Amino acid sequence: ETKNISWEYAAAPESSSHIQLKEKYDHFINGKFEKPSSGKYFDAINPATEKKIASVAEGSKKDIDKAVKAARNAYDSVWSVMPASERAKYLFRIARLIQEKAREFAVIESLDGGKPIRESRDIDIPLAAAHFFYYAGWADKLDYAFPNRKPKSIGVAGQIIPWNFPLLMAAWKIAPALACGNTVVLKPAETTSLTALKLAELIQESGLPEGVVNIVTGDGKVGAEIVGHEGIDKIAFTGSTDVGKLIQKTIAQTEKKVTLELGGKAANIVFEDAPIDQAIEGIVNGIYFNQGHVCCAGSRLFVQESIKDIFIKKLQDRIETLIVGDPMDKNTDVGAINSKNQWETIQGYIELGVKEGLDIFQSSCSLPKSGYFIKPTVFTGVAQSSKLAKEEIFGPVLAVQTFRTVDEVIEKANNTPYGLSAGVWTDKGSKIFNLTSRLRAGVVWANTYNKFDPTSPFGGYKESGFGREGGLHGLSAYLKFD
Ligand code: NAD
Repeated sequence: ETKNISWEYAAAPESSSHIQLKEKYDHFINGKFEKPSSGKYFDAINPATEKKIASVAEGSKKDIDKAVKAARNAYDSVWSVMPASERAKYLFRIARLIQEKAREFAVIESLDGGKPIRESRDIDIPLAAAHFFYYAGWADKLDYAFPNRKPKSIGVAGQIIPWNFPLLMAAWKIAPALACGNTVVLKPAETTSLTALKLAELIQESGLPEGVVNIVTGDGKVGAEIVGHEGIDKIAFTGSTDVGKLIQKTIAQTEKKVTLELGGKAANIVFEDAPIDQAIEGIVNGIYFNQGHVCCAGSRLFVQESIKDIFIKKLQDRIETLIVGDPMDKNTDVGAINSKNQWETIQGYIELGVKEGLDIFQSSCSLPKSGYFIKPTVFTGVAQSSKLAKEEIFGPVLAVQTFRTVDEVIEKANNTPYGLSAGVWTDKGSKIFNLTSRLRAGVVWANTYNKFDPTSPFGGYKESGFGREGGLHGLSAYLKFD
C-alpha cells in the first residue's frame, strides 16, 4: 500500500527515498485505520509544487459517531481507570517514537504544509516530542499539581486543529488530554492531515489501548460534527476567531467545556535604545517564520520615530538576504504558502494595501514558477484604521507604524480585538516591566520573539480566545475539580 514519493527535489539533502507516503490515508478509529464510511477521499496537495501527494479520507457524521463511541468505551473501560503512572508510560513511549521518527515527520510536514524543512526539523517536531515528554511527567502528579482540589478527568475531548503547526498542534492537544485521563477525537486541518496520521501509526506502535486516540480527517463540516456531538464532553479548538465564535454559539446551553486558541495581531515594539541588530532579527523572525502563518506572528511593527528611517533601511536589507522557495532545501528561510486559498487571501491584503496608497517594500528575490509563494512584504506608514493594521493576514506581510512615547505605543498596541502576544525591544529593564504589565497580551517577549516551551502556558485575551495550553495551566483545561 505504500509507494516511494516521487521527489521533486532530488538534490535536496532531506529527500531521502526511504521516507514513504501511503497512497491513501484512512481515519484512525479504535486503534485501526478505517476507510471513510462515505467511501470518499480528498487530495493532499504539496503547496510548493501544486501536485497531489496522497488521498485523505473524507469524514462524515457516521465516522465521528464511530470515533466518539470508541473514545467513550476506551475512557470508561481502560483509560480513566488505569493507574496514572501507567498512562505516563504510554506518553513517554509516544514521545520517544516521535524522536526516533523525527526526520520522517519533518519531511512529511514540509511536503504537506510548505514550511521550510529547517523549521520542521528544528522546531515543530522536537517541540511535539517535548510536549509528550513534559505531560508524561505530570500524569501521576496531578494531585500534587492541584493540592486540595481533587482533579478528575473530564471524559471524551473533541480536538480541532489548524494547519500552521500540524504535528505540534496535535501534540499540544493530545498530550495533556491523555495525561489527565481523557480520551480523544481529533480532527486535523484539511490541508495538513498527514503528520497527524503518521502520529496515529506511532500511537498504534506504542500499544496505546484502542480508542484512546481517534483521528478523523476532513474539513470544517467534520469539525462541526465533533462540536455538536452529544458524546463529547470537552472541545479544544485552535483556529480562526470566526470559527471560535461559531463553536461558542453551538455549545451554549450544553454542559460541554471549551477552550479556544484563536487569532492574533501582535505588536512588536522597537524603542530607540533597543539592540538594533538583534531587534531586526526578532522582527524578521516574528513575521516571516513559517511564512507568517503564526497566530502570534509579530505582524504589527511599532518603531520609535527617532530611529524609523535607519531601522526600516536595515530591515529591508535583511529581508533581501532571506531565501524564499523550495521548502525541502535546508537553506530556505521562507517556504510555500500553505494553500491556494490562503495565497489568495494574502494577495488580497497586499492589493488592498497598494490600493490604500501605502508604501510597499517587497524582497527582490525571484519566486519558483509553480507553487504558492509570496515575497516577504512590508507596508510602511500604515494608519491604525487600515485593515492591514487591524486584521489578521496570516502571511508574510508586515504593517509598520511609528510612535513617540511609551503611553502612545501602549494605546496603539492595545487597540485591537486580539490579545495573544507582543514583543518589546529595549535596553531598559524598567521599560520592559512597564510594558509587559500594560500590554493586553497573553505572551509578551522581551528582546526575543517566538520562543516556545512546553513548560510555559500559551493563550490569549479578548478575541484571541481563552484557556491556556502548555505548562501546568494546560492541564487544568482537561480536568474537572470536585
Ligand atoms: P480555521 O478556523 O479555518 O480552521 C481551523 C480548524 O477548524 C480546521 O481543522 C477546520 O477544518 C476546522 N473548522 C472549520 N470550520 C469549522 C466549524 N464550523 N466547526 C468546527 N471546526 C471547523 O482556521 P485556520 O485557517 O485553519 O487556522 C488559522 C487560524 O488559527 C488563525 O486565525 C490563527 O491565528 C489560529 N491559530 C491560533 C493559535 C493559538 O494558539 N491561539 C495557534 C495556531 C493558529
